[in-house]
Amino acid sequence: MANDFSGLGLSAKVTEAVTAAGYTKPTDIQAQAIPHVLQKKDIIGIAQTGTGKTASFVLPMLTLLESGRARARMPRTLILEPTRELAAQVHENFEKYGKNHRLSVALLIGGVSFEEQNKKLDRGADVLIATPGRMLDQFERGRILLSGVDILVIDEADRMLDMGFIPDIERICSLLPPRRQTLFFSATMPPEIQKLTNRFLRDPIKIEVARQNPTAETIDQKLARVSNKPEEKREALRRLIRGEANLTNAIIFCNRKRDVATLARSLARHGFNAGGLHGDMDQKSRTETLDSFRSGKLTFLIASDVAARGLDIPAVSHVFNFDVPTHAEDYIHRIGRTGRAGRSGTAITLATPSDGKYVDAIVKLIQRDIPLMTVDGVAATTSVPGEASDRASGAESRRPAKGRRERRPRQEAKPVAAPEVSPPERQPPHPKPAPRRTEETRKKRNIDSESGIDADSPFGADGPVPAFLLRPGRIG
Ligand code: AMP
Repeated sequence: MANDFSGLGLSAKVTEAVTAAGYTKPTDIQAQAIPHVLQKKDIIGIAQTGTGKTASFVLPMLTLLESGRARARMPRTLILEPTRELAAQVHENFEKYGKNHRLSVALLIGGVSFEEQNKKLDRGADVLIATPGRMLDQFERGRILLSGVDILVIDEADRMLDMGFIPDIERICSLLPPRRQTLFFSATMPPEIQKLTNRFLRDPIKIEVARQNPTAETIDQKLARVSNKPEEKREALRRLIRGEANLTNAIIFCNRKRDVATLARSLARHGFNAGGLHGDMDQKSRTETLDSFRSGKLTFLIASDVAARGLDIPAVSHVFNFDVPTHAEDYIHRIGRTGRAGRSGTAITLATPSDGKYVDAIVKLIQRDIPLMTVDGVAATTSVPGEASDRASGAESRRPAKGRRERRPRQEAKPVAAPEVSPPERQPPHPKPAPRRTEETRKKRNIDSESGIDADSPFGADGPVPAFLLRPGRIG
């Protein structure tokens, strides 16, 4: 495998820009994919965000684009991204690595003025980066001709599937010249994605790189059992935040967009320096929120999976899963936001009694258990199997020192306009809410009426008990 960028066949201009960016060694996906892309082969790259996959297509594309010229309204290459943020990030990559080139890169995403982008397209774009819906919209208006596309990149295909974009992708593929090169990236290969590659790729080279190890020693993963009553759950989150001595900033994930807005508002009301990020905000407020978070002006970023997908945010000390992700893969993406580049990080997942099966799915996927912790001030982990696990996992020693409970949030209140509540983003389906407990079942099952936690079951009355909680001995 190539040890530096010089042996990969990239042009001098590209190699120089890579060196200027400070990268000395190609990542696995770069070392394996770049030579094939330069040979005009179709590629299936099974790789997650964080593996350097963006540069694995941007760098050889820049090299290939050095010969030839764009013609009016006929982009030479097309990159499809599931979200605006990812599209914007790929655009930044072209700016960074293409600084020695004079290429025209157009961006067709919601919230960015079409006028300017259309001008670029009219003059002739070398690269068009778009979300599938916007692309088709502009195509149908006759703004774009697709017959000149030599290279198609489909990025984060499994996320496209989650978001319902596959029919759009199929349509776009059928509009493109059949003799094009297709570079296809996905973190996972479910059957629908496999079918898509069978249909639209020609003799692809399959490259699979090891996922970023989410259970790396640099990430301290913890599970906190909480009530599923919204206000109690939010209270538990506040306590957890206050209990984390080394917290500098955090991303807090919610499963649903409307919860992002509610939680952002609630945290801001309680004096936390928090702002929300979700798909319905206009591009300007999204960019502003993200920039504030990146620069440290904003301490807590509340986000949905879709909004946060692929964002490159360095140095996040904590990730909180306010909701257990219903797709186990999302757990890996979420906690991968912390503990990056050898830094240490903490990922705390709040699990309600009805989350048992999702926790189990995560534990199965990451092939290790997640140590339990107590929520300071919430009478929770009082009995049976879980308790042994608590002690064994060292949760006691992590409990914050006396007095910390009373501490104010580490940031003074800075009012942050929380986004309006809006209809659900196109996201994976959410589980039905757990059935309400009756007083009788409460008594019968010995449920703590304050905390809502079932003392008989380590995970509560509503959900199945995760298998790992029933195993004796140490977890973690
Ligand atoms: P990606 O998987 O494309 O989202 O890239 C994840 C991060 O890795 C980004 O911050 C890139 O700037 C960075 N990166 C890309 N290629 C390299 C490389 N060869 N060496 C070190 N970092 C890289």
